[in-house]
Amino acid sequence: MNVAAALFRIYPVRDALRNAWEESKPGTQDAHEEGGFVLRNFAGNLEVHRWPKGVQANITVPPHPSCQFKQLDVVFSFHTHPNVSDEFLQEPSETDKRSVQEDPDLKGALYEGELVISQENIYLISPNGEVQELIKTSSFF
Ligand SMILES: [Zn+2]
Repeated sequence: MNVAAALFRIYPVRDALRNAWEESKPGTQDAHEEGGFVLRNFAGNLEVHRWPKGVQANITVPPHPSCQFKQLDVVFSFHTHPNVSDEFLQEPSETDKRSVQEDPDLKGALYEGELVISQENIYLISPNGEVQELIKTSSFF
């Protein structure tokens, strides 16, 4: 997928992504993953539905059969990597990549991949498991 196109598409939900990042308390003792779905609503606009709060380095994705949630198509999924110390991976993990690539319910026609928001970069895991750096986090937020 085209990186610029992906960026353009997530721009309308930028504030919601920034809120998720801030609520994951990056770089603090309380750092924990936050995440959610970016859905296309019936008006054709993108809206964010957050997942239940995760733990330090894990978050559970709610069921999304046929790449839908609350009967809306999933366009992106996203989660944060708020642990900024060297002992934690900043970029998407192998598990992150596999969980996108191998999830039969993340294969909708509108699904563009999973965003991983870290201190430095926002990454995109494409449905085929490939990772690219979408943008510097500081320049997007
Ligand atoms: Zn992750």
